[in-house]
Amino acid sequence: MIASECEPYAKSGGLADVVGSLPVALQELGHRVIVILPKYSAVDSIRYGLQPFMSPIGVWMGNAQEWCSAHSAHKQGVAVYFIESKKYFDRWGYYHDPDMNDYLDNARRFGFFTRAALQLCRDMGFRPDILHVHDWQTALGAAYLKIWHWNDPLLGQARSVLTIHNIAHQGVYDRADYEYLGLQWGNFTSDKFEDHGKINMLKGGIHYADMVNTVSPSYANETRTPEGGSGLAPYLNARGDDYIGILNGADYAIWNPETDPLIPANFSRADLGGKAVCKRELQKRFLLDVNPDVPVIGVVSRLAAQKGLDLLAASIEAMVEDMSVQFVVLGSGEKGLSHYFGTLPARYPGKIGSYIGYSEELSHWIEAGSDFFLMPSLYEPCGLNQIYSLRYGTLPIVRATGGLDDTVQQYDERKGTGTGFKFIQPNASALYNTVGWAVSTYFDRKAHLLKMMRAAMAKDYSWNQSARQYERMYLRARSL
Ligand code: ADP
Repeated sequence: MIASECEPYAKSGGLADVVGSLPVALQELGHRVIVILPKYSAVDSIRYGLQPFMSPIGVWMGNAQEWCSAHSAHKQGVAVYFIESKKYFDRWGYYHDPDMNDYLDNARRFGFFTRAALQLCRDMGFRPDILHVHDWQTALGAAYLKIWHWNDPLLGQARSVLTIHNIAHQGVYDRADYEYLGLQWGNFTSDKFEDHGKINMLKGGIHYADMVNTVSPSYANETRTPEGGSGLAPYLNARGDDYIGILNGADYAIWNPETDPLIPANFSRADLGGKAVCKRELQKRFLLDVNPDVPVIGVVSRLAAQKGLDLLAASIEAMVEDMSVQFVVLGSGEKGLSHYFGTLPARYPGKIGSYIGYSEELSHWIEAGSDFFLMPSLYEPCGLNQIYSLRYGTLPIVRATGGLDDTVQQYDERKGTGTGFKFIQPNASALYNTVGWAVSTYFDRKAHLLKMMRAAMAKDYSWNQSARQYERMYLRARSL
């Protein structure tokens, strides 16, 4: 498995959770998995016990050889290797600088990394049955197998699987890098790498991978349409049945209120006492009015347009003015949204709390201590936080899109069934109304709320299920 992120070493979003969990789950099914990652300067070598593994590794890029080295570590029995290149990975961020500008050499950085990872397999004598690549950053691996390694004694029999975690990010870069990437000009055609005169790395991967999947069945359907495919729908449709959706699993070793070491008190479906403690501590920590009878709505999110936080920005002030409700927002990303949510607590003291930045600990506190969890995403390939929320009895309020629609069951007011609240229209009034619906349920239909919490906490989205579906996809790729 070759990827640009893996929890806990390097994480900016759900990709890291998947690459962190799936290999472990596959290994439990009896497979041998190795994971190869870039050694960003942010990877904490000492904390994770990285050891020098191999040096030097020669990687052909364009018509010259470049050099790197590899380090190794272990994650729950899975061997993890890190490609070290000072030139490409000794920087502040994974993909962009502190001002959110993409690094201009991203195509080269991840092209190099992907080729280096394949070279590492060769140099260490590893013969994979499946090469699993993720998103544009490593999509070229599928192409390199077919272009360069079809005859290789170690890699020649490998089949490739590409997982798309977000179709909006395609790795589109200037054709000036094409030569360097070693993809051969004959493949610079509109069905493979060419996209309006530029290189589209994900598109090439979709063409070359033996199987392609994305992270929920609904998102697989949405990406097959012009509105949802960000320009790649025709190429996904061309793959027919070789493009499928597999829901991400949750790592319940990390996200379990019964054992979570990060939260103020543990709790379970049978004993919700600790949840009240978590709520009180959350209210204190975010300087909210400490009141067990006011519902708290949590948000943990990248602050990006995709996440629908513009809708929240357009309605949150009206909500705290009109309703008895509190908000806690944890997020980082776009400057405008960061500024807006960062300054809200000063304007609505006691009612809105926020922390602009990345904090693993606070994300657990919010999952545990909130009554509801809000995800108003415009689109959501899978979404993990709503799955974690279910386990913590924190009912999701979500827009009915992609994985959110697949994992949250709509509240039925007659029967008191369901696991959350869903809205369809991507606008601020739909969001306002749905939060109003959840808040009124909190005050007026307490029995329903408890029933829903218990139903939510019993849901099982563990990796074991998803890993078996990946296993079936790998077998299919091998049979092609
Ligand atoms: P995406 O991959 O689009 O960001 P997901 O819901 O699939 O969305 O995954 C997001 C992951 O990143 C979750 O594990 C979430 O808890 C975490 N996360 C996002 N923003 C933050 C933040 N500011 N602090 C801590 N964790 C965060």
